[in-house]
Parts: sequence; structure tokens; C-alpha cells
Amino acid sequence: MDHNELWQQVLAQMQFHISKANFATWFQNTEIILREDEKMVISVPNAFSKEWLKNKYYKLILKTIHTTDNSIKELEFVIKPQLLKKIDQKEDTKKPEIETGQLKFEEFKVNKETNLNPRYTFENFVVGSFNELAYSASLAISENVGTVYNPLFIYGGVGLGKTHLIQAIGNKIHDSPKKKKVKYISCEKFVSSIVSGIRNHNIDIFKASLSLIDVLIIDDIQFLAGKDKTQEEFFHTFNSLYEKNKQIILSSDRPPNAIPELEERLRSRFEGGMITDISLPDYETRLAILKTKLQEKNLKLPEDVLEYVASNVKKNIRELEGALNSLLIYYKTNTSIPNLETTKRLLKNFVFSPFNVANYKKIIEIVSKFYNLDEKTIFNPTRRKEIVRPRQIAMFLLREELKYSFPAIARKFGGKDHTTVIYAHKKILQECQQNNKLTEELNMIKQKVYSG
Ligand code: ADP
Ligand code: MG
Repeated sequence: MDHNELWQQVLAQMQFHISKANFATWFQNTEIILREDEKMVISVPNAFSKEWLKNKYYKLILKTIHTTDNSIKELEFVIKPQLLKKIDQKEDTKKPEIETGQLKFEEFKVNKETNLNPRYTFENFVVGSFNELAYSASLAISENVGTVYNPLFIYGGVGLGKTHLIQAIGNKIHDSPKKKKVKYISCEKFVSSIVSGIRNHNIDIFKASLSLIDVLIIDDIQFLAGKDKTQEEFFHTFNSLYEKNKQIILSSDRPPNAIPELEERLRSRFEGGMITDISLPDYETRLAILKTKLQEKNLKLPEDVLEYVASNVKKNIRELEGALNSLLIYYKTNTSIPNLETTKRLLKNFVFSPFNVANYKKIIEIVSKFYNLDEKTIFNPTRRKEIVRPRQIAMFLLREELKYSFPAIARKFGGKDHTTVIYAHKKILQECQQNNKLTEELNMIKQKVYSG
């Protein structure tokens, strides 16, 4: 079986295991590019999918490959720009021009005790007006553990540096001579530890381990939404650490008041310290980020290339890194520096990303997810407030972002009289003018819709 067939088989299997949307997001434009002894090298379109496949789907992919070939022991994901695809598609027997050895971007090992990745530091974190408050609060905390802002709550869209920043705090404290115990946990991991602790009757062990910590960092805390049991446990953990002046650091994709189904007492705890956001970097900052990252890699690119990247790749910093990596791969493969023309060709995917377009499915999916509803519920003609509002917002966005006609929207929502849609649209519009929270929510939803 050749690589292509094997990968097709993996893809077919994966579709059983994950949702369509996830599948499209993470597995589109992936393929096996080569095999090196016990290692399969899989190319992915950008840094974002690389991270996800590596962190979330590694085991599942390997398991699937094992059903056909169990001599494979390891997977490596490499980012591959569009153009290079053609080069490799010559024939299977010949080794592609990409040598994995060349593709190594620095790999860091996660610290087993703290779960922190040492690559996230304050030194390599670029500060601009979009993140300077979050940055200075973080720095302050690393120097005054538990005493200045507690908890610290940082929120902002995906790929904007939340994880980087909260881990930088952890790393700095961990490396200081004071020997503080730091622990970084993703919220998903936290939830699963609680759930399995309850199931296996050993939750006390997990709780005891948390009680010894000086600095607890929980990433993507919005995942607590609707998880009642975990919220309850977290509330107690929070209090016991807080009372002992232990530092708590949280990140989220939205502010506490926009996390659905979050107990009031937790919300007020989250709001009791320092809340700060990270917004989008402007052009100058994007340019500065590119230059910093190049410097780290000891490389130079022409100014016009950098300006092109900075003015066209705007979604977030993760994309910016992905774009840069594409250029670096080109450089390493061709041992020539990409010029502006080449850059435009290489970055087609980033600039005209199909994920940057809104569509009906995406709006429904993202609005439902944002309000923690399943997609069917949003079409449910109930008058319950927690469903009516998301439904109105979905209608509003279909009108505003896709220019759907009112009757067309009405048909999508079960052929209702389209005056309901007109009413919904007007209501959201009006409320936005009076209510900052709603505007903020809409912005966050739109950001998600346009960032895939
Ligand atoms: P988030 O957690 O908000 O989704 P991450 O912290 O994972 O985002 O950041 C995405 C990528 O962008 C990471 O590789 C991170 O190192 C990089 N990054 C984010 N913000 C900055 C910054 N201000 N300076 C340098 N690199 C950054
Ligand atoms: Mg993150």
C-alpha cells in the first residue's frame, strides 16, 4: 500500500471519530510525505493544524495507521506551503525535496512537573498596544506572586498569545530561586481529571495535589461552561488556594460575564481580581512580531516581503507564524530567499484562506457553540430566553454578514412568518446600541466566524 492509499484510509477512519467540522478544519490538505524507518512524516497546511493534530489527534491517527501497518512508531507533522506540494508530487519512490532534518523548527520539551513549555517566555513575547495591559499585569504577577492581582484573568481570540503569556508567567516564577510550585493545566485536562477522579473515587488525590501548588494556571477556562460538577470542585480549589494567597491565573476566549452556564459564584470570583484582554495587533506590531521571530531564527527576509506578510496576514499571531514558517521552509528547501513574487504565491493560502469567508453553516455552528447549545436547539421555536437570544443573533448575522433576505432566513428557521426575523434583527441592532456586552459578544462571534 502506498502512502497515499494509507493516508486515505486514515482519513476515512478519522471521519468516523470526529465531527465533520473538525475533520474539515484539521485534516484538509494533509498527506503523508515520506517515511523514515519507524516514522511517518505528515504534511499539514499550517501551524494551526500542526498543533492540533499533534496535540489532539496524534494517538488516534497512530492507532488507525496501526490497523494497516504496525511498524510505524512515531508521527511527525510538518508545515508545507502550497507550492511545495507540486514538487513532491512527482513520484512516490523518490524522496521528496523536503528533508525532514531541515524542517526542524526548534522543539522544546514540556516540563513534566509544571506542564509548562519553556519556549514561552517574556523575552520572546512582543508587546504592543494590543496586549500591553495583559503583558504588564503578567509581568507584575511574576514578580509579586499571589499579592498583586489575584486571580489574573486574560481573555482574547484564538492565536493571540494567551497561552504564551500565562505560560511565560509560570516559566519565570518556576525559574526564580524561590522554588515556587507552578502548575499549568488546560481546562479540558482539568475537567477530565475531575471527571475521572469522581468515577474512580480518587478525586481526593487530585485535589490534594492541587492544594500544594503556589501558582495554578488554567488555560481556556471557558470550557467550564455547563460542567456543573467540575465547576463545583473548581470553586473549592479556587477558594482554598486563594485563602492561602496562592496565585491563580486564568485564560479564556471571552470575559467571565460572557461564559455561558457559569455559576454566579465562580463568575464573581473571576471578576474579583484583574481582568485584561488581548486584542488584535496592528500592522506595525505585526511587522515587529515577524522581525522578532526572524531574529530568533537568525534569518533575514527582504523588507518588501515582510511588509507584504504583515499587511496581508491579519487574523492572528499564530497565522503570522505559520506564514513565516512557510517562507522559511521555502528558503531551506531552495536555499534561496523568497522574493515578493514567490511570497505572494506561497502565501496564497493564508491571504485568501477559504476559512476567512462566512457561510450559513459556520454562523449557525459558531453561534450555537458560543452559547453552548447544540445546533438543533437553536432552531427550536421555544420562547426560552437562553435559546431565543442566540436564535435572534444567528438571524441577525445571517442578515448582516451574508445579506440573506428576511424571508430566506425565516425559511431556514422553519418557515416562520418573516416579521419575526425583522423583529429579531431590529431588536439586536437596538440592543447593540445600548448594551456593550452584546456588542462585545457579537464581535467575538464574528471573529470566530471569520477565523474558521
Ligand atoms: P492563544 O493561546 O491566545 O490561542 P498562543 O499563545 O497559543 O495563542 O499564541 C499563538 C502563537 O503565537 C504562539 O506560537 C505564540 O508563541 C505566538 N505569539 C502570540 N503572541 C505573541 C507575541 N506577543 N509575541 C510573540 N509571539 C506571540
Ligand atoms: Mg491558548
